Amino acid sequence: MNAKEDLEFAKEHRIAPGKRPNLKKLDTKVRGPFDDKDDAKAFTAETNHKIRDLQYRMFVEEKQSLLVVLQAPDAAGKDGLIRKVLGQMNPQGCRTYPFKVPTKEERAHDFLWRIHRCTPAAGKVSVFNRSHYEDVLVVRVNDLVPKRVWKDRYKIINDFEHMLAEAGTRILKFYLHISPEEQLERFKKRLDNPDKHWKLNTGDYAARDQWDQYREAYEDAIEQCNTDHAPWHVIPADHKWYRDASVAAIVYDTFLSMDPQLPPVDVDLDEIRSLYQREAAELGKASSS
Ligand code: ADP
Repeated sequence: MNAKEDLEFAKEHRIAPGKRPNLKKLDTKVRGPFDDKDDAKAFTAETNHKIRDLQYRMFVEEKQSLLVVLQAPDAAGKDGLIRKVLGQMNPQGCRTYPFKVPTKEERAHDFLWRIHRCTPAAGKVSVFNRSHYEDVLVVRVNDLVPKRVWKDRYKIINDFEHMLAEAGTRILKFYLHISPEEQLERFKKRLDNPDKHWKLNTGDYAARDQWDQYREAYEDAIEQCNTDHAPWHVIPADHKWYRDASVAAIVYDTFLSMDPQLPPVDVDLDEIRSLYQREAAELGKASSS
């Protein structure tokens, strides 16, 4: 249990700044220190509670904020991770923002316009289900803008994230790393389950044909936009339980290092106590008469 408690196991998924990750080589089936699925699920449940406590502190402290960016191939489990870990935070201070194909209005602005308005205010958490990285991923792979346009975006993204960090936002970026075999298995499960048929889409299969182009685009994005204040993690995601446990560990560890504090007490506690005692005594009198 010690190895799990000290959260060390998840740290290996942090990509060192300046290093190009080799996604073909990075294992998608890691099991970490867990005996089995139930062991990992128990760890995640316990860690979720601890995350909630610290998130509450950050919410009332109102000084810092957290931005979690999720990127992944289809069926890698962004939705499941949100449901089981990130969405377990108190919704008063946490919101998820999905970024889809830009609308006409969004396209009429710079690519960060729709992103910036969803970044977290002091005390809050924003979870991005896809993000500004789509503008150097799908946009690049599908030639939606010329190369000279997307090439400049890495620097623009770094400057943007630097600005957010300067304003007190901690940024965590996760790439959920799934194998093509596991993805196909999940597509089959969707096909076999009528409740999941709404998720089916031929585009998912088209993206499989572009697996290598996406891999290269992800490797570039992670290599070029990976800083101390906005680190990338490559999370092995073939085992859903490991995906959840490792992200929970990293989020919790980040909250610990942010060390949010409850606001100082600026009332006279003795005065509040005597006000309480007076009210309680009056209530006692009223109920006994
Ligand atoms: P998800 O797969 O995230 O659950 P959808 O099935 O609705 O949600 O897919 C959203 C789609 O929007 C993805 O195919 C993604 O590539 C696309 N998308 C997101 N941002 C952009 C962008 N900036 N430009 C083009 N397409 C984008």
